[in-house]
Amino acid sequence: MKKILVTGGLGYIGSHTVVELLSVGFDVVVIDNLNNSKEEVKARIEDIAGRNFELCIGDVNDAATLEALFVKHTFDGVIHFAAHKAVGESVDNPVMYYQNNVSGLISLLSTMEKHKVSNLIFSSSCTVYGAATDLPVTEKTLIQKAESPYGTTKILGEDIINDFAKHKEFKSILLRYFNPVGAHPSAKIGELPLGVPNNLVPYITQTAAGIREQLTVFGEDYNTEDGTCIRDYIHVVDLAKAHVKALTYCQDMSHNVDVFNVGTGKGNTVLEVIRAFEKVNGVKLNYKIGPRRGGDIEQIYADTSKVNALLGWSAQYDIADMMQHAWAWQQGLQD
Ligand code: NAD
Ligand code: UDP
Repeated sequence: MKKILVTGGLGYIGSHTVVELLSVGFDVVVIDNLNNSKEEVKARIEDIAGRNFELCIGDVNDAATLEALFVKHTFDGVIHFAAHKAVGESVDNPVMYYQNNVSGLISLLSTMEKHKVSNLIFSSSCTVYGAATDLPVTEKTLIQKAESPYGTTKILGEDIINDFAKHKEFKSILLRYFNPVGAHPSAKIGELPLGVPNNLVPYITQTAAGIREQLTVFGEDYNTEDGTCIRDYIHVVDLAKAHVKALTYCQDMSHNVDVFNVGTGKGNTVLEVIRAFEKVNGVKLNYKIGPRRGGDIEQIYADTSKVNALLGWSAQYDIADMMQHAWAWQQGLQD
């Protein structure tokens, strides 16, 4: 396997994955429409990896652009990150989410089919498990009806790939990410949230930086050790490395589709995350306890035994590393 197409490769998880792909010798072509990223990320990726890659500024929904890319290059695999990802926005604008996330995938699959390209790695999410009661969740945990159109696009994406792969010489791996956080240790790439962040870690770093006045902890009356919600936070570089492992596994597997949880296997409460941030960075965070946020799941974390055993992958970074790297990235943004 040599040449990989990465859709959404300038985004948060995509940029870290392109670094890892280049670093182990893959050639990479990225298609990104800059909907949620900046062109300057390309140079930063190349700076870290010490190698260059081709960037096509274009939309995966644009069949002609995809066709031209697949005529120009022979791809050995595709990693599909390109999608919208804001849960609240998807509730307000479901059509935009189905259009970009579902139609975008269909457009990609039909071009892959036409050019007989196999080995697709798809970005799914632990959101497909909903409020699972048996923890940790395994890949066999029942998928629940999604709470938001965004969640539905991930369930549909998995279904479409399963159907597509059934009668074809086509292989795909579905990666169900838990909560990706942190940034590259070089602080050259990281998450670029637009406007007020919804997610915990960017809200923490922006509060510490003085961009937000105060962090609100959403609820402390949950049935957990300190009353705040539990998530399985995974360092974005660890997550990126899982994609490289998945590519290798995908081309050699005897069946068409497989699915893996990608998390650390360990849950942290919101207060534990805040304390880890304060301790590792020596920064006091201004936060208060507020009411629960509607739609929040009390706790979820991954059973990672399948990904550990079959992909030979496990998370290397802990929550302190995640907080340290997230803060270094945030500080770099202010310079
Ligand atoms: P991101 O927004 O940072 O990256 C997505 C990239 O895709 C952006 O650079 C954007 O410009 C590009 N893009 C969007 N639509 C496009 C289109 N139609 N054509 C070309 N480019 C397009 O998001 P991310 O956090 O890196 O997420 C990557 C993937 O992982 C998404 O599919 C997301 O749903 C999934 N995911 C993310 C998380 C998370 O918490 N970040 C969790 C689970 C799953
Ligand atoms: N959270 C919080 N304050 C914030 C943002 C998030 O207390 O400003 C909590 C949220 O209730 C959840 C956890 O942090 O329990 C992770 O939230 P995030 O939105 O990052 O991820 P998700 O809920 O989608 O897993």
